[in-house]
Amino acid sequence: MSSGPGASVDVVIVGGGAIGMAVAYALKTMSGGCRVAVVERDPAYALASTPRASGGVRRLFALPENIALSNASIPVYESFPELMAVDGQKADISFRKGGYLFIVPAAGVANLRRNYELQRKHGVNVDWLEPEALKARFPSMIVDDLAAAVHSRDDGWMDPYAALMALRRKVRALGVMLVQDEVVAIDRPATLVRSVTLKAGGSIKTDAVVNAAGAWSPVVSAMVSQSIPITPLRRFEHYFECEQPIEPLPYVKDVNRLAFRPEGKGYSGGVPTLAEPRGYNFEVDHAYFDDVVWPALARRFPQFERTRCRNTLAGLYDQNDLDGNPIIGPWENACENFYLAAGFSGHGLMHAPATGRAIAELILRRRVETLDLTRLGWRRIADNMPYPEQGIL
Ligand SMILES: Cc1cc2nc3c(=O)[nH]c(=O)nc-3n(C[C@H](O)[C@H](O)[C@H](O)COP(=O)(O)OP(=O)(O)OC[C@H]3O[C@@H](n4cnc5c(N)ncnc54)[C@H](O)[C@@H]3O)c2cc1C
Repeated sequence: MSSGPGASVDVVIVGGGAIGMAVAYALKTMSGGCRVAVVERDPAYALASTPRASGGVRRLFALPENIALSNASIPVYESFPELMAVDGQKADISFRKGGYLFIVPAAGVANLRRNYELQRKHGVNVDWLEPEALKARFPSMIVDDLAAAVHSRDDGWMDPYAALMALRRKVRALGVMLVQDEVVAIDRPATLVRSVTLKAGGSIKTDAVVNAAGAWSPVVSAMVSQSIPITPLRRFEHYFECEQPIEPLPYVKDVNRLAFRPEGKGYSGGVPTLAEPRGYNFEVDHAYFDDVVWPALARRFPQFERTRCRNTLAGLYDQNDLDGNPIIGPWENACENFYLAAGFSGHGLMHAPATGRAIAELILRRRVETLDLTRLGWRRIADNMPYPEQGIL
């Protein structure tokens, strides 16, 4: 697309990761005539969060909004091969319904139980397991310190890079303009944005801008003088193998934030920590696996006494330091055509399809019709009123 002075669209999306692409997909499928441009500075996605994600998709949350986002998004991923097909060629994202398992010691039982009741109320297929039943289901697991677990068999994981490429191919086929450039300024003469300026020198006039820049969303928001509590939080994803076999495992969420799942001949996972200093830091600390991850693995499965970390990648969470939840919606009472879809704090991939739909509904129809996401909007940020998950990391 030409991005010279004459270029004009209905919506500019800043950032072409899972979130930006999901917004573009929803806009084009809801309104074929909508002129959409996605501006992505690096189509190789060298540092973007989406390809570095673990790929987990789960409905095990404590807030109705997060459960609803998962309930609406996971079936979309299950149907990706057909939905994202282009010219009859299906998209393979290796979706695997391997299940999710949360395990807790006695101190976590009341909270797990409350969440379990809520999840059941929202139609989640989830089992409550006491330690004996847990051991029967996963015989290799050490359960002596555990008091309960929940196991959701319909959840699982997929290949994040394949999902992103499928979206990219599909939105291009739908007529979305994919602009390889960087947004360096946003023109906001009064209470509305009018255009974005590109690093290469051109600009694009627009009726709406969506900030889908993930961990870089605070930089984009600063272009319209909006201050948001989102910061880049480094997190390692390790690929490790184990010599002795373990029975097929789901995506395990252990105490102390250990999270991992089967991947190929081994496993993929890590131990994210909020104590990490914020910043655009992609350096890998190779001692982290041995010092933190390995002891936690060996504590839970004796087979991991002998394990080897084969690869570690550092990626960024777009961490919302106010409450660990996304900000989805317009910048109310300030700049109504500037939309945020950021702050997913480790859950953006699994919530991308429903988020895309919600933003598209807001832009095209002025309200979210399919889900009630009011409490994930801008207002709580303006009011400094956190709306956090309870006890689920
Ligand atoms: C190690 C790790 C494991 C994770 N595991 C999971 C998981 O299991 N499940 C899950 O749901 N989520 C997981 N996440 C979180 C998930 O990766 C993110 O929430 C999600 O990918 C966010 O997507 P995004 O499109 O907002 O961001 P990104 O994928 O980072 O895309 C943002 C894009 O914006 C572009 N950009 C930024 N600024 C500009 C600009 N000014 N102009 C043009 N382009 C710009 C960037 O180049 C980038 O490509 C994980 C994250 C990490 C780091």
